[in-house]
Amino acid sequence: MISDIQEILVDEKAIEKRVSELGSQISGDYQGKNPILVCVLKGSSVFFADLIRKMPIPIEIEFLKASSYGSRAQSSGKIELRGDLSMEVKGRHILLVEDIVDTGNTLKYLLERFENLGAEEVKVCSLLDKPHRREQRVIADYIGFKIPNEFVVGYGLDFAQKYRNLPYIGILKKEIYE
Ligand code: 5GP
Ligand code: MG
Ligand code: MG
Repeated sequence: MISDIQEILVDEKAIEKRVSELGSQISGDYQGKNPILVCVLKGSSVFFADLIRKMPIPIEIEFLKASSYGSRAQSSGKIELRGDLSMEVKGRHILLVEDIVDTGNTLKYLLERFENLGAEEVKVCSLLDKPHRREQRVIADYIGFKIPNEFVVGYGLDFAQKYRNLPYIGILKKEIYE
């Protein structure tokens, strides 16, 4: 599997350190707010599981599925949302946990969706930020790492459903997806 990876961009140690920092920062900011952390599946699953264990405050968790990619390495710009939207969002502090913000289409869609549901506040924590291809004016409130304009996999992120189990974030060789 490692032979499909051109370069490790963020290794296990660096991820662990940054996730701990984010957990502390977010916990401080959400003290006494009992936020709902929303895991945007599948990409943020690994990050989410690590992040919530670095948050020693009362929180609730929910899971949603958002897809925009299909099995290609280009965003279709069309967001498909599935999962439990029955959670009571009204008056709550929502923290959306994302794997990566690329064009920003997914994030814009989710933000609008939760604001329309009457949340008191909607913020976003994204493991990765890839600002080069942004189409929407959105920015995550908490960002793990800013990365260059490369297609990355690992630590939850996939290509055609593979590589999510890699413990690091790596640049996928172009010949794999081109
Ligand atoms: P956006 O809507 O911001 O363009 O893209 C959001 C989604 O596109 C992410 O949640 C992720 O599923 C996918 N995506 C964007 N860039 C990458 C990337 O470099 N690697 C992987 N694996 N997925 C990406
Ligand atoms: Mg995502
Ligand atoms: Mg994907």
